[in-house]
Amino acid sequence: MTHYDAIVLGVGGMGSAALYHLARRHLRVLGIERYNIPHEMGSSHGLTRIIRLAYYEHPSYVPLLRRAYELWRQLENTVQERLLIITGSIDASPADGEVFMGSKASCDIHHLPHAVLDHQELNARFPGYRLPQGIVAVYQPDGGFLLSERCIVAHVMVAQELGAEVHGQERVLGWEAKGQGVEVHTDRGRYSAEKLVICAGAWGAKLVPELATLAVPERQVLGWFQPTRPALFRVHAFPVFNMAVEEGRYYGFPIYGIPGFKVGRYHHLEQRVDPDRMDREAHREDEETLRHFTARYFPDAAGPTMSLKTCLFTNTPDEHFILDLHPDLPQVCIAAGFSGHGFKFCSVVGEIMADLAQTGRSRHDLELFRLRRFQEASPTH
Ligand SMILES: Cc1cc2nc3c(=O)[nH]c(=O)nc-3n(C[C@H](O)[C@H](O)[C@H](O)COP(=O)(O)OP(=O)(O)OC[C@H]3O[C@@H](n4cnc5c(N)ncnc54)[C@H](O)[C@@H]3O)c2cc1C
Repeated sequence: MTHYDAIVLGVGGMGSAALYHLARRHLRVLGIERYNIPHEMGSSHGLTRIIRLAYYEHPSYVPLLRRAYELWRQLENTVQERLLIITGSIDASPADGEVFMGSKASCDIHHLPHAVLDHQELNARFPGYRLPQGIVAVYQPDGGFLLSERCIVAHVMVAQELGAEVHGQERVLGWEAKGQGVEVHTDRGRYSAEKLVICAGAWGAKLVPELATLAVPERQVLGWFQPTRPALFRVHAFPVFNMAVEEGRYYGFPIYGIPGFKVGRYHHLEQRVDPDRMDREAHREDEETLRHFTARYFPDAAGPTMSLKTCLFTNTPDEHFILDLHPDLPQVCIAAGFSGHGFKFCSVVGEIMADLAQTGRSRHDLELFRLRRFQEASPTH
């Protein structure tokens, strides 16, 4: 049985970054991925993912985001490929809504450059937008998007150059603690390691039963519609957005990579799923949910449908991540529950996982992401 310093279980967004950061520290590391590298069965496909600094979810993400940006730029330099495209970002909602207020609070607390725009100012400045009265936006110039599948490829290829071993098309069937280390068995073999880093995305709870109620997979659908006025939706004319309106919370992108304005709805049709049995086809109801929103708020983008893709969120009860050691086994590190907003952090999560695997702690503040918060939150009897 081959022995490693660390095994990374799952080579998607987070696992590819963890692999790279472990290899960079001269550790002997193996990454195991059940599908291709990259693939379209998990949470990281569909070409692009938003990155934004004015983080409405919680201001304590902002220091992590600054480091994430820095690491993405370093990775771009290493691979000599563009992975991060800046468009600016819009976070919009009613003035007393979570998206506007949270985003503004993050800007104020962390002194981020930004502008507050009412609906008329926003529509005039970015004419692809047609927002109604009562919606207010934070514009933050550092927002943009990452080329998510290319990011995975970049992390894996640099990790390999640094000596990492990577096995695609190999499924982990189980793992167990062996003394201070771990043993992992797959449909192709058995491996041992000092440390195990679990980055299994929507499959996390299948590999760590403690996550059963804490990292819950949910079906999502992405849509691409052909704009009738494409010039309004080009990268230099159209900032990425997050928006809470009557219909729900939506996000969107300019045209990039494949034809169409890209749009999605958070918690799409609120379908909890088993990732091994999820309906991976997109249906008329999925399309209508996205088209209705697009026609109302971006009417010049609501032309024919170009593409529809299903994808998976993995939600925690409070929608903050889980970045921690296993509750009973300090040789096992867990990155899980990214709740539909994790990709932009992959670069820094890779660093955090390497820190946890190497020393049991991280240079970053992980208080918001501890597993024990769920016990503390549950009622005592
Ligand atoms: C539609 C959609 C839109 C999103 N938009 C954004 C956005 O704009 N910005 C943003 O920051 N985030 C966004 N997110 C969230 C973000 O994409 C995810 O948080 C992130 O991709 C999660 O990465 P991951 O590594 O946990 O999962 P994945 O990339 O899915 O990786 C997990 C990997 O583990 C592998 N695996 C699982 N079980 C096994 C096993 N037994 N053996 C071997 N391998 C295994 C899987 O095959 C997979 O490759 C979005 C997500 C979706 C679905």
